[in-house]
Amino acid sequence: MLFETTIAGSLPKPSWLAEPEKLWAPWRLAGAELEAAKIDATLLAVKLQEDAGIDIVTAGEQARQHFVHGFLERVEGIDFQNRVEMGIRNDRYKAMVPTVTGPLKLKGRVHAAEAKAARAHTKRRLKFTLPGPMTIADTVADRHYGDQKTMAFAFADLLNEEARALARDGIDVIQFDEPAFNVFMDQVNVWGIAALERAAAGLACRTAVHICYGYGIKANIDWKETLGAEWRQYEAIFPALAASRIDQVSVECRNSKVPIGLLGLLKGKDVLVGAIDVASDEIETPEDVAATIEAAMQHVPKERIVACTNCGMAPMRRDIAEAKLVALAEGAALARKRFG
Ligand code: ZN
Repeated sequence: MLFETTIAGSLPKPSWLAEPEKLWAPWRLAGAELEAAKIDATLLAVKLQEDAGIDIVTAGEQARQHFVHGFLERVEGIDFQNRVEMGIRNDRYKAMVPTVTGPLKLKGRVHAAEAKAARAHTKRRLKFTLPGPMTIADTVADRHYGDQKTMAFAFADLLNEEARALARDGIDVIQFDEPAFNVFMDQVNVWGIAALERAAAGLACRTAVHICYGYGIKANIDWKETLGAEWRQYEAIFPALAASRIDQVSVECRNSKVPIGLLGLLKGKDVLVGAIDVASDEIETPEDVAATIEAAMQHVPKERIVACTNCGMAPMRRDIAEAKLVALAEGAALARKRFG
């Protein structure tokens, strides 16, 4: 089927689980109650996507507080008590980040509970998201490895261990989120893509990478103001991504200053075309979504286009996010009718 639909990853959490409309939102429960509530919210996220008509659904990232730290919490060698303030994404924002103090090792499975719960309750294809190694390495303070590349490859091995387990759980697509990829373009080509391939090595399922200019939060909006009228950062990394072993690339297109022609550099890849703006509360019409797909079709073979959101929807209002899911599915259906 042409123009299948999926989302970048996250959906807003219900207000009984975490404080709404907030990144890093504090949990509202604790202990066993919290763990049960995370699973309840996961099933709700899957159901909302199914009912909206999304083809490849996700667990909605309901079980993690933040897309990077959800993974780090299960890693040995990281000191969460000893947090230091660090400018991340090339000093775009300050964050209190944990410290790597020793050799990195997984304490056990990271996402088994929510992955298995989602798998047990949907017959649709299921995508699961993990942070990418370069982005993780940019979101912790290193007091052990002494070299960012070495540390990123250590994280890549851990990611690979969890990714292989997720594939055994029945996950169909594993996506690594690498927002650091449009910040450190030189290192992306030198080692970022190699680290990503290490994380995705030997996976029986499909693999994807989501690169993006970030959620619609103020620090990102201010940063985007400085990038000029056309965002050509991807020009430097798409050829190497096209040559990589990753199957799919997720890119923002709706209301984006990324010149759509750059998608043509992703030869041989499935392109997850962001047709829903997550930085705006204005709900796209199906016509808007079909128009974004049509624009992408000028540069990507239509068989390789998957309709997607620009980025995660975690910080959005729930009703708006749900309406946007419906618009995405209806817009893809319209495009199918029109261009199929
Ligand atoms: Zn994103």
